[in-house]
Amino acid sequence: MINNEKLDYDALIIGAGIAGIQTAVDLGNMGLKVLMIDKQSSIGGTMIQLSKVFPTLDCASCITTPKMSAAFNHANVTTKTLAEFSGFTEFSDDTFEVEIKQKSRYVDIGACTGCNECADACPVIMLDDGYDEGMGYKKAIGVPFATALPQKAVLDIDNCILCGRCANACSTSAIHFEMKDELLKYRVGAIVIATGFHETQIIKERFGGGRIKNVITGKQMERLLAPTGLSQGIFRPSDSKIPWSIAYVQCAGSRDASIGVPYCSSICCMFAIKQAILLSAAAPLADITIYNMDIRAFGKGYDEFYETARNMGINFVKGKVALIEETETGSTKLHVEVFGEDGGKQEIEHDLTVLSMGVVPQWDALMSKKLPVSLNVDRFVKEIRFSSEPGLTTIPGVFAVGTSTGPKDIVDSIISGSSVAGKVALWLKGELRDSFLVEEFPVVM
Ligand SMILES: Cc1cc2nc3c(=O)[nH]c(=O)nc-3n(C[C@H](O)[C@H](O)[C@H](O)COP(=O)(O)OP(=O)(O)OC[C@H]3O[C@@H](n4cnc5c(N)ncnc54)[C@H](O)[C@@H]3O)c2cc1C
Ligand code: SF4
Ligand code: SF4
Repeated sequence: MINNEKLDYDALIIGAGIAGIQTAVDLGNMGLKVLMIDKQSSIGGTMIQLSKVFPTLDCASCITTPKMSAAFNHANVTTKTLAEFSGFTEFSDDTFEVEIKQKSRYVDIGACTGCNECADACPVIMLDDGYDEGMGYKKAIGVPFATALPQKAVLDIDNCILCGRCANACSTSAIHFEMKDELLKYRVGAIVIATGFHETQIIKERFGGGRIKNVITGKQMERLLAPTGLSQGIFRPSDSKIPWSIAYVQCAGSRDASIGVPYCSSICCMFAIKQAILLSAAAPLADITIYNMDIRAFGKGYDEFYETARNMGINFVKGKVALIEETETGSTKLHVEVFGEDGGKQEIEHDLTVLSMGVVPQWDALMSKKLPVSLNVDRFVKEIRFSSEPGLTTIPGVFAVGTSTGPKDIVDSIISGSSVAGKVALWLKGELRDSFLVEEFPVVM
């Protein structure tokens, strides 16, 4: 039994995407005290950026915001944003002292009312390459987005010209240019890694290397489709025209050892189908083709969702896209090796092409130095008892949830968050030590 009188918090959760949020709420509901941190200025992770979710087509924001709010306003959960894990010390009584770098917001969170008068006054406008994935714009100061939690402004000091207009506009004197980063230390009984994933970050040269304007990623399309997006409709980036012909290139950043991502990302087939269905509603006359090697519709209701897309007239072409070129009009020309008897090499033009990128861990070499849990060969956090007790890492008392351990959809991320909350509670009662010490069998993934 861990002596909780010594502890500031029963558990630290690193990452406040949907998996971390679920773990925090479940632990909080068990009466345990939780500190949840996220390096971004708002909690919510990837899910708060999405349009709708497969296979139900529920609005992503409508599902995520109540969960974000349940964690953020929970009496047993303390949330810190712009907060990064920076190190830990392990004690013989199975507790940890954790160090957290609290980056400066340059805004006093207690004083800020979230009115956004500062953003209105700020003259600096730039591409929002965070929440809006480069498809919208933001000011150098302001509340990060409409459903952000906390609903407090954040100042981007790297792009600020220190003109002071925001401070003059702020009626509560919340803006402090002299605010400094802080190093915080807490004693905790368990650590949960919930650091999630990125889209594969390399766009292959043969797909334009990121230089063709009308070749975008799946996440960028989510922002165009989202009711919370700034773009107010589907457009192609080069000339803001409606694209009447849209291509999806599957496995564009996965199932390819040459880019270090040999595995299937497991969600891309489904999000491409979802986006194609949503596009059919947003631009009913648009012609949509999904180029794929095979469609992996593995979950509950997923195959039926795929069938719905086929019945709606979305084209599924089995083949491999070898090259994407930009035409003089800014369209994209795909060189495709179409499989089957009528196949062969074909060149097909589309107004806009969406790359279904793969899923890679946000956990990086720097995090491995700060918290040296073992990783699988694919660099996701290793679960030592993956088949029987998922979520246990190679350090006793350190757990992992959601996509930090491998590609997952939302439902599986939520399930893993809840399951690990149960394990953390057992660990705090002193009941799980043996499981951490016996590796079930070597995991090869
Ligand atoms: C284009 C696209 C569309 C999708 N559509 C669907 C869909 O329709 N349905 C579905 O089921 N799934 C969908 N998914 C998958 C879904 O997004 C994931 O299953 C889900 O977001 C995983 O949640 P998570 O909490 O594991 O990770 P994330 O959402 O990645 O959250 C991780 C959090 O950890 C934080 N973090 C990372 N490192 C640190 C650190 N060092 N310190 C502090 N904080 C840190 C991050 O800032 C982030 O907030 C889609 C994915 C993509 C890319
Ligand atoms: S910093 Fe001031 S002006 Fe900006 S949102 Fe907060 S209270 Fe409003
Ligand atoms: S001081 Fe910086 S953030 Fe404030 S209005 Fe000027 S540019 Fe914008």
